[in-house]
Order: sequence, then C-alpha cells, then structure tokens
Amino acid sequence: MSSIALDPAAHPVAASPDSRPSLLGLTRAGLAQALASIDVPEREIRMRVTQLWHWIYFQGVTDFGLMTNVAKALRARLAEHFTLARPEVIAEQVSKDGTRKWLIRMPPVDARDRGAEIECVYIPERDRGTLCVSSQVGCTLTCTFCHTGTQKLVRNLTAQEIVQQLVVARDRIGDFPGMTPPTDGLLPSGEGVRAVSNIVFMGMGEPLYNFDQVRDAIAVLSDGDGLSLSKRRITVSTSGVVPEIPSLGAEMGTMLAISLHAVRDELRDKLVPLNKKYPIKDLLDACRNYPGLSNARRITFEYVMLKGVNDSPADARELVRLLKGIPAKINLIPFNPWPGTQYECSDWGVIERFSEIVFNAGYASPVRTPRGRDILAACGQLKSETEKIRARARLMLEEAEAAEGESAPQ
Ligand code: SAH
Ligand code: SF4
Repeated sequence: MSSIALDPAAHPVAASPDSRPSLLGLTRAGLAQALASIDVPEREIRMRVTQLWHWIYFQGVTDFGLMTNVAKALRARLAEHFTLARPEVIAEQVSKDGTRKWLIRMPPVDARDRGAEIECVYIPERDRGTLCVSSQVGCTLTCTFCHTGTQKLVRNLTAQEIVQQLVVARDRIGDFPGMTPPTDGLLPSGEGVRAVSNIVFMGMGEPLYNFDQVRDAIAVLSDGDGLSLSKRRITVSTSGVVPEIPSLGAEMGTMLAISLHAVRDELRDKLVPLNKKYPIKDLLDACRNYPGLSNARRITFEYVMLKGVNDSPADARELVRLLKGIPAKINLIPFNPWPGTQYECSDWGVIERFSEIVFNAGYASPVRTPRGRDILAACGQLKSETEKIRARARLMLEEAEAAEGESAPQ
C-alpha cells in the first residue's frame, strides 16, 4: 500500500531517547506521513517511500547517510528530524543450543506511557529460525494457567513496536546484508535460508484484541520488498476471539493457531474464561470456515497438559472427535508452572498416552524436549515471567516443526 491518506493515530511514531522519532517499524503509510511532515513534495513521496523501505527493511541500515540513492540534502533533513533507532535491548541470553532471548525496552509512545518491556525468544533449527513476538504488554484475558493472565493489560503494542522485534532479532543474529552472524550460537543454514524464517504471535497478549496494529505489522513483515516473511510462515495464536477470526483470514491471511486446552465448555470456561462468550462450537465453526485450509495449510490447536484436569484418554478421544473435518495439527504443551499457580504439569507417561491417542487418529502430536533450557533456567534476571517463556519456547518448536513440508518461498 502506498496511499498517503493518513491516520496519525493509527501509526504512532515512537520517540527515541534523543526525542527524534524513529522511522523503524513504520508502515508505508507511516513513512509517507513522516516524509510529508518534513515537507517532501507530495509528487515525490511514493518514490521516496520505496527508497526508504529498501534501506530500512531490506538492507537494515541504521544511518540515513548510507542511503546512496537518496539525495544528499534529503538524507540530511531526514537525519535532522528522525532516526532509525532500534529499541534498547536490556538483556540478552544465548543458550548452548542457539536459543536466544532478549528483553527489549520500548520507549514511551506518549506522555502518559512509561515505556514497555517485552521479551522475545528466537529458536534456530537446522533449516529455519522462529521468532516469538508479543502483541500486547500484559493481557486483558485471564486464562487461569497463564502467567500473563495474572497481569493487567499495560497497553497494546503499536505495529511499529511489533515490527521492531523482528529487526532487533535480525540485528542481533546478523541477518541483514553485510552483517556478520555471531559465532556464539547455532543458526539455520542452507541456500537462501534466513536466520529468522518464521514468526509466531505467541508472546505476551492476545493479538486479536490488538487487531489493527497486528494487521499493519504483518503487512510490513510480509512485504516482499523488505523483511519478506512469507505469510505461510507467520502464525497468529488466539485464545478464541471468534468474531475476529474471519477478519484475520481475510485481512492478514496468516496461519492460525488456537489455544484450545479443553474439549468441554464447562472446563474451558474455567481455563480460558473467554470461552463463556465464545464457546467451543462457535470457535470450531470459525476454524472450519478459515480461508485457504488444506492439508498443507492446517490450523494448529494448542493444548496445555494439566495434571488431572484435561489430560485423560477420554479428553484425547474427544479432542480427535471435535477436530474431525478440520485440517489440523495438535501441539501438546507440557504446562510450565509459575509461582502461585494451582496447576501442575501432567506426568510424562500421561502425556505420552494422550499423544498416542491423538497420533493414532492421524495427527502428528510431538512433545519435544524444550530448547534453551540453560538460559531459561537462568532467566530470573529478566523482568518478564520466565516460566511462560519456557512454555512458549516449546510451543515454537512445535510450530516450526509443523511448518515442515511447506514449500512456500521465504
Ligand atoms: N494470547 C494468545 C497468544 C499468547 S499465549 C493465546 O492465548 O493464544 C501463547 C500460548 O502459550 C498459548 O497457547 C497459551 O495458552 C500458552 N501458555 C500460556 N501459559 C502457559 C503455561 N504456563 N504453560 C504452557 N503454556 C502456556
Ligand atoms: Fe492472554 Fe493468551 Fe495468556 Fe490467555 S493464554 S491470558 S489470552 S496471553
């Protein structure tokens, strides 16, 4: 999109510490608005946006001076008014197996905001790398097994902040042209494989309650002239905001993951209270109608294994029955306990039995050893809840695996 009909509220520009706003993370419309604000003539704007887009998102430059095809005077004017600053990485942890975790501080978006701290996890595998991003700080929903659910919503992240998470990751793992990848961890390899090839919205927050910003961020992330992530390699995970699922399919066209966790409304009402509003039947109907489903494009159903709560063989059989007719994959997630939680993780044998039933019904249902255990164990130093990150790390692995066999280009 290169329209310059702008809605300033939809594209807030984050202030960097020196008070010049950073252009990094803006949509094409946001960049056009920024250029208009420094009196770039309207007839030039589309062309300038194209140039900036390439330098910011394809080359990953941090300095306007490097934008050699942009007139020198304009480069100077851009530098006078804007930066390409990244949000600050407060902490970085690198696991022996290459898993990386960053604590990122987002600058305040307005006078009332005290800034936001979010965690981002990167999991490399042989032929792909998955980044888990956040869409909100905290969450308005109150899933009883989720640590984020015990925190109030601090605020929505802007599209700019969502995109910045990927740019920070690419900076850190040398995934822009001319950068040298770090030598202290493993990265995926192979012809044409980007270090970050997949994105999952499985960090903090409910992405479908921040729809517009997530949609705008996905437009930037998937733009073929810039960051170029295939939409088939972007997965949005929702606890079941049913009315937004058709719009997700129509406006974002990404892969869909559903946090199901229970097969009966009575239990799901307790685990995922949003179920009282949008019960299982409505949720699964919305899934059935999700556009573009096929065996190669399946919905992921996430199912957290809670001891004695949702982990019986009868639950497994009901899960299989419920999902009949929906191209689906099932991710069984061992529950990660956090201080004060009432739940425990199911015993290993129970998880295996559950997995077997699901497997025998024709669904791959791997339960994998978590990655990055060494750093995750040590991540009490980071601000956000670490147990949850650990759960997500597992989940991301399953996601990455589930994407196996897809032949979509990067
Ligand atoms: N709000 C969205 C996306 C973020 S949560 C959603 O709920 O889908 C990402 C995943 O982590 C969800 O499937 C969530 O249910 C799961 N999760 C949350 N807390 C967990 C825990 N303590 N152990 C294991 N998985 C957890
Ligand atoms: Fe929010 Fe997802 Fe946690 Fe539920 S599981 S409280 S929707 S982040």
